[in-house]
Amino acid sequence: MNPSLKAKLKPGKERSLLRRHPWIFSGAVASISGQGAPGDTIRVLDTNGRFLGWAALSPHSQIRMRVWGFDEKEEIRPDFFFRRIEAAVAKRKRAGGLACACRLINAEADLLPGLIVDKYGDYLVTQFLSAGVERWKEVIVKGLCAVLQPRGVYERSDERVRLKEGLSLQTGLLAGEGPPELIQIEEHGHRFWVDVRRGHKTGFYLDQAENRRILAEYVQNRCVLNCFSYTGGFSVVALAAGASHVVNLDTSEDALKLALKNVALNGLPLERVENRREDVFVALRGMRDRGETFDLILLDPPKFAENQQQLVRASRGYKDINLLAFKLLRPGGLLVTFSCSGLVGPELFQKIVADAALDAQRNAWIKRRLWQASDHAVLLSFPEGLYLKGLVCEVE
Ligand code: SAH
Repeated sequence: MNPSLKAKLKPGKERSLLRRHPWIFSGAVASISGQGAPGDTIRVLDTNGRFLGWAALSPHSQIRMRVWGFDEKEEIRPDFFFRRIEAAVAKRKRAGGLACACRLINAEADLLPGLIVDKYGDYLVTQFLSAGVERWKEVIVKGLCAVLQPRGVYERSDERVRLKEGLSLQTGLLAGEGPPELIQIEEHGHRFWVDVRRGHKTGFYLDQAENRRILAEYVQNRCVLNCFSYTGGFSVVALAAGASHVVNLDTSEDALKLALKNVALNGLPLERVENRREDVFVALRGMRDRGETFDLILLDPPKFAENQQQLVRASRGYKDINLLAFKLLRPGGLLVTFSCSGLVGPELFQKIVADAALDAQRNAWIKRRLWQASDHAVLLSFPEGLYLKGLVCEVE
């Protein structure tokens, strides 16, 4: 720690910190005194020199500092990280115990900006996405081992956001044993193979866990189209809950293969599932032209909007696929549609889906609103943490 490192904010720029928002943008900083390396702890002061918080310095990022804490007496030392890890895990234990696969640390929302920790059976898979947590990596890994005694800790810091922090992409073993090629997990009585080395994010879309459970209520005897199916999370649930037929649609050959493996792993009939390797935008048009219809369509696309500049294009993308899906639904059919772009808020998303229904000339009703799983905690003072929202809509 470098005790002389201080940042003074411009007048008025302390407001968001006083509301305990953890980000300080470069434009809010009046001056920095002392030599600061990436990830160094810095004392943040308002324009009058009053203490506001301890933060991690990120010299290369627009988000110049991320606040560790607002208590001047709480120093940023190894025991600080141990306490934060313990608190995040305890919170999940109170909420019904640790599931076989779940998110244990959700970055800013668990007061550890930039740190993601997911549990897959006996293994932990981590992402260090800010200069601050990168700097404290060894301490954090020790803390995780002490609190959770995992068989191994694997790193998947290959998200492009690291580049904005001036960090390179990194993957590999951090502690203990390397995970097997595929880890088998259990979720609500279903089993899945997870490829934590090459899969998306940390290997599995744990943020959809609660929505997978909810889907079971809607699929009995229905013919389901699972767009952006990845490794078939929704498909396994749909087949197990009595769907008559499921079509997986994805561009990734590896994901589609694993989806079939997951169906087999659960002893479900492979003859009721079909893989189509196609671009969803193209495939839906083909289905429309051929007059193919479904009882239930899932749309869980990747993030379309990475930044404000992409918002208009992203909105068009969402409208396009939702419009096509509405057209493919049989009377009484259901659209289960998601957006994981944080920049597309719930209100905007609902408006886009409404516009899509209008252009498809279908009356549709919202039956249910869906959100990210509750272990993907949302901190009230950090509303940006809410990114996944969905709607179950029924058409006439
Ligand atoms: N619903 C999944 C997660 C979806 S992730 C689950 O719950 O597990 C998004 C998926 O969309 C990825 O598998 C990716 O390969 C796929 N994808 C991205 N763009 C696509 C496109 N244009 N057409 C088809 N699939 C696409």
